[in-house]
Amino acid sequence: MLALQGDTREHVAALREAGAQVSTVRRRSELDTVDGLVIPGGESTAMSHLLRVFDLLDPLRERLAAGLPAYGSCAGMILLATEILDAGEPGREAVPLGGIDMTVRRNAFGRQVDSFEGDIDFEGLDGPAHAVFIRAPWVERVGPEVQVLAQAGEHIVAVRQGAVLATAFHPEMTGDRRVHKLFVDIVAGAV
Ligand code: GLN
Repeated sequence: MLALQGDTREHVAALREAGAQVSTVRRRSELDTVDGLVIPGGESTAMSHLLRVFDLLDPLRERLAAGLPAYGSCAGMILLATEILDAGEPGREAVPLGGIDMTVRRNAFGRQVDSFEGDIDFEGLDGPAHAVFIRAPWVERVGPEVQVLAQAGEHIVAVRQGAVLATAFHPEMTGDRRVHKLFVDIVAGAV
């Protein structure tokens, strides 16, 4: 669990309930030991800043490029992109780590409505997922290797490329552990 900023506690609880052994990552030596990484919701600009301060930016990019399984929700989705639109003020902007070949627009839903929730179909889950969106991004472009798992209306809000998963919404804030379970299964190499 990347624990620099954001709603890490909710993710840790959700991951444990989904059967994972969880540790927190704030330094490189910790990053080196994990089999998968969750990047929480929070603020992608602040997390980008802290990744630099903690000397994690390049090591994390390298591990993702080498195939580290990862799951990002909301701000985490933004960081797992290859390109970020409306990334923030130059010098304090959100920086893409790669992981999923996609273009994400930060605060995309936030320009229309600050937060909202609803039930959406999610590929591979048995029945709709309750999705909570908070100043959420959406995905504007996906590369050929990217699988679209969920949409809210016409907007893409959940994707997977190989072992990297991202949702614009926050399953950690609901009691539904199916998305975290999916990620635990991905890390285990089961799906
Ligand atoms: N708007 C936030 C960002 O740009 C994301 C919001 C969230 O994670 N709930 O990082």
